[in-house]
Amino acid sequence: MKALCYQGPKRIEYGQTADPVLSADTDAIVAMTSCAICGSDLHIYHGSPFSQDTGYCVGHEAVGEIVEVGKAVRRLKVGEKVMLSAAVGCGQCVRCLAGDIARCERGGAQCYGLSSALQGCQAEAIRIPFADFNASPIPDGLSEDQGLMLTDNLPTAYLGCRNADIGPGKTVTVIGLGPIGLMAVEIAQVLGAARVFAVDLVPGRREIAKGLGATALDPATAMQEIAAATGGRMSDCVVEAVGADATIQLGLMLAGRGGTVSAIGVNTNMDFRFPMAMAFGKSLTFRIALCSVQMYWPELIPLVRAGRLHPERFISHRLSLSEGARAYELTDTKKDGALKMVMTP
Ligand SMILES: [Zn+2]
Ligand SMILES: [Zn+2]
Repeated sequence: MKALCYQGPKRIEYGQTADPVLSADTDAIVAMTSCAICGSDLHIYHGSPFSQDTGYCVGHEAVGEIVEVGKAVRRLKVGEKVMLSAAVGCGQCVRCLAGDIARCERGGAQCYGLSSALQGCQAEAIRIPFADFNASPIPDGLSEDQGLMLTDNLPTAYLGCRNADIGPGKTVTVIGLGPIGLMAVEIAQVLGAARVFAVDLVPGRREIAKGLGATALDPATAMQEIAAATGGRMSDCVVEAVGADATIQLGLMLAGRGGTVSAIGVNTNMDFRFPMAMAFGKSLTFRIALCSVQMYWPELIPLVRAGRLHPERFISHRLSLSEGARAYELTDTKKDGALKMVMTP
């Protein structure tokens, strides 16, 4: 089959690779109808911090059609249209059964496309382990694009907001207005935020956040502007959706006394300088977590179906999988209004 494979820093190449095969009775094979690039794929693009491996398929967000199932797959049927969960649980332990796959007792959730141990989905087909649990039919009333946003970005944005303790009347700041940050702006309003500040370097992204009803700010002036707008109280809740040292530190600065900072970007810096005294002085809560995608589907699917959340509106480009190298470059450089790239094999 054809796939996008990681061949080294800034080398995501379209080429021929082995077809996926069933390796357990609980597996299924899905033929992709569309797949997307996630901000976290850029960590691999810049030289993977996750493994030394090369030549494996990348990507963890996809929708497609079941083309083959193992003998023990009960729920999914050949021909069914499904959405994947970006993170993979065993589906059998107590934590998975409660939907909390990030804490799967068989070693935590795995993710597609980080090494050849679990091939990614920016490909014509993929093997889904414990398929009954790690894929789900696209819900009635939802488009394929909406299903694709439910594979990772929307649940991750939602986790970020829940972990930030967003609720009625809160002042919220979202840092980083990529697709996940913009989804967090929309979710914060649905969860009752009184005011949302949206912070990003890119003017075009700030404009989109403004269109969603947020007060858009440049990171350089966010501190003064939020202080002025809140009478010095700053933010009750901060969602950090970048994962860079500087943006996590900014998030800790922008939180007020007793505030909560929730990080959902991937940071792999072992030497991160956490401003402990400031966090202590302000009695901050800091949370960081990987999303248990399936856990949030029962809450998010009705919100999308009812038109309260519109995650598909952050799709900026539709390309063929063969144009994958360009899609990565656009995601990386943020040129041409790049937000969410959707690719079709
Ligand atoms: Zn992702
Ligand atoms: Zn498990």
